[in-house]
Amino acid sequence: VLSLFPEFFEPFQTAGVVGKVLSGERKLGQWSVELIPVQLRNFSLGHYKSVDDTLYGGSAGMVIRADVLANGIQWILEQGEYQSREDLEVIFPTPRGPRWDHDLAMELGRSHFKPQGTCFSKDLVFICGRYEGIDERFVQKYVDKMVSIGDYVISGGELATMVMVDGLIRLVPGCLGNNASLRDESFQRPLLDYPVYTKPRVFEEMEVPSVLTSGHHKEIARYQEQKRLELTQKYRPDLLAD
Ligand code: SAM
Repeated sequence: VLSLFPEFFEPFQTAGVVGKVLSGERKLGQWSVELIPVQLRNFSLGHYKSVDDTLYGGSAGMVIRADVLANGIQWILEQGEYQSREDLEVIFPTPRGPRWDHDLAMELGRSHFKPQGTCFSKDLVFICGRYEGIDERFVQKYVDKMVSIGDYVISGGELATMVMVDGLIRLVPGCLGNNASLRDESFQRPLLDYPVYTKPRVFEEMEVPSVLTSGHHKEIARYQEQKRLELTQKYRPDLLAD
């Protein structure tokens, strides 16, 4: 990950289920995932060591320089045992890209896990834009995929990168510890997840649905399936229409 603020990734790499995977505490079958945030300033140029500059055309704001980003890519290529630039897939989170969703995550995941899940076919490089964005010439020459996390603007690509990496890692069998959790999750089929409950059995005069405490596994499964349909119909009818 090339970023002007690599410190954003520190808690991400240690906290929660994805943090356990990224710190190596939790193994995913035979392989692991490594996230390497790299300070873009390491590749700054010129007397003033700048990474950004003013916009041509006179508008206010700053743009990250294409040559600095290209230096970053060159450095990455020198670190790994890469045959060529084709061994990297450069992803640029940007409002311009197609919207990140379950299908896009599955597509990216599928194209990067070999069938036996033993390794990635390419290493992913995330480019975190800041300010007014990054020089268009870098986008044209180096970016393989653009992805948006929604129709709104955030201050930088770091959060968008974390959204994508988190979503991708959760899809890997073994990540959630229990494959059933993955199978039941929202969007796995075009359905939302069913509602969930825990103790206490009665909370502010609302009782847990009795079927869930009945011990009848078939009944529970039928109830959960029905609730998935009901919730999807109520909150996301567009998913059913698809
Ligand atoms: N001037 C740009 C525009 O209006 O489209 C916004 C630049 S934004 C302040 C800085 C960076 O944040 C972008 O280059 C991009 O990397 C990231 N970013 C902002 N919104 C995003 C979104 N919805 N999805 C993905 N990345 C986003």
